[in-house]
Amino acid sequence: MSALLEEINKRKTFAIISHPDAGKTTLTEKFLLFGGAIHTAGAVKSNKIKKTATSDFMEIEKQRGISVATSVMGFEYKDTLINLLDTPGHKDFAEDTYRTLTAVDSVVLVVDCVKGVEEQTERLMEVCRMRDTPVMIFVNKLDRPGKDPFDLLDELETKLDIKVRPLTWPINMGERFKGVYNVYDNNLLLFSVNKTKVADDQVLIEDLNDPRLVGLIGEEDADQLREDIELINGVYEDFDAKDYENARIAPVFFGSAVNNFGVKELLEAFVRYAPTPVSRPTNQGEIAPTDKKFSGFVFKIHANLDPKHRDRIAFLRVCSGTFERNKFFHHVRLGKKLRFSNPASFMAQRKETVEEAYAGDVIGLYDTGNFKIGDTLTEGSDFMFKGIPSFSPEIFRELLNKDPMKTKQLEKGIRQLTEEGVAQLFIMNYGSAKIVGTVGELQFDVIKYRLEHEYGAKCEFVAKSFHKACWITSDDQKKLDDFKRVKGNFMAKDKDDLDVFLAQTPWILKVEQENNPDIKFHFNSEFK
Ligand code: GDP
Repeated sequence: MSALLEEINKRKTFAIISHPDAGKTTLTEKFLLFGGAIHTAGAVKSNKIKKTATSDFMEIEKQRGISVATSVMGFEYKDTLINLLDTPGHKDFAEDTYRTLTAVDSVVLVVDCVKGVEEQTERLMEVCRMRDTPVMIFVNKLDRPGKDPFDLLDELETKLDIKVRPLTWPINMGERFKGVYNVYDNNLLLFSVNKTKVADDQVLIEDLNDPRLVGLIGEEDADQLREDIELINGVYEDFDAKDYENARIAPVFFGSAVNNFGVKELLEAFVRYAPTPVSRPTNQGEIAPTDKKFSGFVFKIHANLDPKHRDRIAFLRVCSGTFERNKFFHHVRLGKKLRFSNPASFMAQRKETVEEAYAGDVIGLYDTGNFKIGDTLTEGSDFMFKGIPSFSPEIFRELLNKDPMKTKQLEKGIRQLTEEGVAQLFIMNYGSAKIVGTVGELQFDVIKYRLEHEYGAKCEFVAKSFHKACWITSDDQKKLDDFKRVKGNFMAKDKDDLDVFLAQTPWILKVEQENNPDIKFHFNSEFK
């Protein structure tokens, strides 16, 4: 095996996603404990933003600071180098989560057994389905009286629109929760409340008729477990790792993250089955991780918290070849050679300078304004990675300058903030009004605060009654030009100078689609 292939096969890059409060932070922490990346519980801070529009801004700032450190957490488990990418739980930052999902090869979805599948979980799952990302599901909080596990499995299948296969099974729940039976290895892990250490009270039983079973969990529960497992094996297809890899089936695990229960089974299955770095689509076909030449793309940009140092960190996912420190690489969009003297890796929550990185790795590049989200870096080739689209925002407001002396600062600030992906900026064709689009109210507060504190500019937002931004194209250039002319008051350009039609209501959009059969209306910037 080549040295490059060996490096690639060691790596697994994934994200944990959940509805807020389901237990993502807690599960992350337990994973890091198993990986030896941290040694005590409580070391991982939640980057949750609890309050909404009126939140105090220092909290946001503090949390942004924390999320730099926890954006990527590398740890090692059983010779596998695992890169865990953090995603913000708050729904106003959903777009940030979508972009992070472009940089992973698989996902672990956490569901609260009391609440079941919640709204945001459904949305995140839609994004996973769009890209055929393999998903493992962890049903959490079994120490609480929740829904019946069989009902939960049905709910997962219907609401998430994916077939499921339990790989562990709970023995009771709530106060009588005794542990999980490992369906794929046939062993039993008994419950003991264990918040800080790695649990190792695992009992190996050969099969469910092993006489020790009754001694361990009592006759009643042993009977129930045998019955449940028989039912599972009868109803659900055998687990096929290929089906999981192709995103056709999601294995399900039960447990309690806060008690570190059922987590090890999930992690073991993860290192066994989760995919190593996979090929990525570009505008010139797929690029395999084993391609000898380096390539990667930027999926996240983080501003420096210190306003005196305006540099930013661009997070780049390596897709092929070997990234090397101080070597010149090709910035495809700018057609520019760039090299990096301090690329950062994020092992065990420490930032370290990295000499080399391989497919699956995420590195932090200090940037003075060269990068936008979606940018491709290569060893000379001119292809660009696809799959980092912008989606139509949900709230639109016009940005007004409140301090004419600071026009330049405002221009620069809003451009940089939108490049970071805080919001989307559309410039109207007539009059050049700046329309800012977001998925949540909170972003407008963040923009206003940051424009003032980082760029010294003052702004105001005026509500615009737009319903959707549609990227428009046509095979008939004349028809496209006519449409743009007639609809001039509703036409704008996005950050990449693409044509965008801002529809005021769903009805108007429908009418325009019907009246203009030669115009294609796309709801994301990659036209899929
Ligand atoms: P996140 O918002 O998804 O990151 O959720 P957190 O990990 O912050 O957890 C939310 C709350 O649920 C916290 O108070 C946790 O202590 C609690 N929690 C997490 N796992 C469990 C569990 O297994 N059982 C119970 N009872 N509570 C849990």
